[in-house]
Amino acid sequence: MKYPIYIPEIKENERKYVLDCIDSTWISSKGKYVDLFEQKIQEYTGVKHAVAVFNGTVALHLALDVIGVKPDDEIILPDFTYIASANAVLYLGAVPVLVDVSKDSWNITLDEIKKNVTPKTKAIIITDIYGTPPEMDEIMEFAKSKGIVVVADSAESLGATYKGKHTGNIADISTYSFFGNKTVTTGEGGMVTTNNDEYNYLLRKKKNQGNHDTIRYFHDVLGYNFRMTNIQAAIGCAQMERIENTLERKKNLFGWYKEELQGLVKFQEIEEYITSSIWMVCFLLPKNIVREDLMKFMDTKGIETRPFFFPIHEMPFYTTVNNKNTIEISKHGMNVPSYPQLKKEDVVYICNQIKEYLENNG
Ligand SMILES: *Cc1c(COP(=O)(O)O)cnc(C)c1O
Repeated sequence: MKYPIYIPEIKENERKYVLDCIDSTWISSKGKYVDLFEQKIQEYTGVKHAVAVFNGTVALHLALDVIGVKPDDEIILPDFTYIASANAVLYLGAVPVLVDVSKDSWNITLDEIKKNVTPKTKAIIITDIYGTPPEMDEIMEFAKSKGIVVVADSAESLGATYKGKHTGNIADISTYSFFGNKTVTTGEGGMVTTNNDEYNYLLRKKKNQGNHDTIRYFHDVLGYNFRMTNIQAAIGCAQMERIENTLERKKNLFGWYKEELQGLVKFQEIEEYITSSIWMVCFLLPKNIVREDLMKFMDTKGIETRPFFFPIHEMPFYTTVNNKNTIEISKHGMNVPSYPQLKKEDVVYICNQIKEYLENNG
């Protein structure tokens, strides 16, 4: 494959810091890089507490646990999101209430939240889909008035801002992922961020087996082992040194894709007070195009593409709902190569293949 969907950028300092872990024998979850990586996320996003964990999925699980989600609590979340946001609800025995997203922003909306809120609603999970946050001011204000906690699945949006504020520092509690195709990667990795001191205390305690504050091997709450390793964090530290540059190049390549394909496909609508992290460049194809056929065609040209996530409600262990926008977006959306190393001529080449296909099959 000449153009995979993503290639993580691993450079000299990643190698250097990982070797430092190995040479120093600090390869488990103790060691200087975990603290340092947490500090870097705090400084970068402006959030008070950042708690490193093993991946983005356990970050969500832990966040929901720490805010006190109990069996039968209702959790409102977008039907169009990655499976991890929804599964975390099931892990705690709570009830996912899958709501439709906007046909333009592809994000959860306050209207849909209001329609689905009940006295049992404990929390709302918002997803910054493809790196773009939803209408956070409105959602936060509404949730506060109802005593509902807002959890942000910001796995895709490190580097994104909403009215000048970083994701990770907007909702009551937020999570990041550092999987290989995320803007900053640690291989596998995650982070929970919050400005709430009580949540911070519980996050640190519960990610570490619910250890008692002073009595060794006594566990006063049910915890987990969700700890990030020093090696993961070492990679993350090196990645954070270059985050601005990575984001800049992703923004550029999004611009090139837009230049080439504007009018032919439908891009995500992004309000002017939002800076998206442009996690993946993606768009909706015209309805008369059979996405899977285009994807096969792209494959023959050495270009990897991906379909959008299925609606969560289509998974056999979720309850079916009829969310029309989610179904449409899921059916027609496609991701294209989005790694920061791409040059303008690469993007032009990729777009020319798409254009050729659309012309001959439109
Ligand atoms: C990547 C991702 C996750 C999960 O992260 P992992 O680190 O792979 O567990 C969760 N939610 C969204 C929206 C994601 O894109």
